[in-house]
Amino acid sequence: MKAVVTGAARGIGAAIADTLRARGHEVETIDVAEGADHRVDVARDELPDLGHADICVSNAAITNTIAPAHRMSPEQWQRDIDVNLTGAFRVVQACLGGMRERRFGRIVVISSGAAQSGLPGQVAYSASKAGLIGMVQTIAAENVARGITANAVLPGLIETENVLAMPPEVLERVRAQMPSGRMGSPAEVAGLVAYLASEESGYVTGQAIGIDGGMALNTMSLTGAPRT
Ligand code: NAD
Repeated sequence: MKAVVTGAARGIGAAIADTLRARGHEVETIDVAEGADHRVDVARDELPDLGHADICVSNAAITNTIAPAHRMSPEQWQRDIDVNLTGAFRVVQACLGGMRERRFGRIVVISSGAAQSGLPGQVAYSASKAGLIGMVQTIAAENVARGITANAVLPGLIETENVLAMPPEVLERVRAQMPSGRMGSPAEVAGLVAYLASEESGYVTGQAIGIDGGMALNTMSLTGAPRT
């Protein structure tokens, strides 16, 4: 099948593109940075023709806008919403026409656990990622009779180049706080995306699926029952 993956120059997007290629798909990549087939800002630039895409993976995002809500500037808020939410919508919309004509499509949007739990210091990011869930559910409902599925993937903390660039003591502290004792790998996220992009996932649609090693679970025990 033909796939398009945004934000694929590095990190999770690059892993998704590799995994889809390894599963025999023809993959076209988009990124604002160098290293993709199309150097495009998904929020602002004209998009390439995506009418041929059977699989659409919207992964591009700004992840590093940090400010508490009471100090976030209008520009910071707007750019996160423009790229993470409007950019995702633009890309998905560009794929929908062809999918509807061919009566087949797999749309996967990379959201975040922050969509459901919030993330102090990243109010615009969390809001943009929560918006993606409503977007995906609506597109899923509108297109379920046309053989098109749309799902959101909500990663926890994933070991990308960016995340691993944090100071070692911060990484250690983060790992120690994870219920599983480790972060996820980009390949693990890519494996879930590849399933949602496959023909066999045709009955899964409109879902927000976490991949976080149990990070969102309550691990406090009232009985002292051990977790290991
Ligand atoms: P990353 O910053 O390493 O990669 C994001 C990519 O998107 C980059 O290549 C960047 O150039 C591209 N991009 C940014 N703005 C763009 C724009 N306007 N147009 C086109 N491309 C643009 O991030 P990552 O950690 O690989 O995250 C990938 C996705 O997974 C994001 O949607 C992120 O929100 C989500 N996510 C990541 C984690 C994590 O722990 N890494 C956790 C939850 C969700």
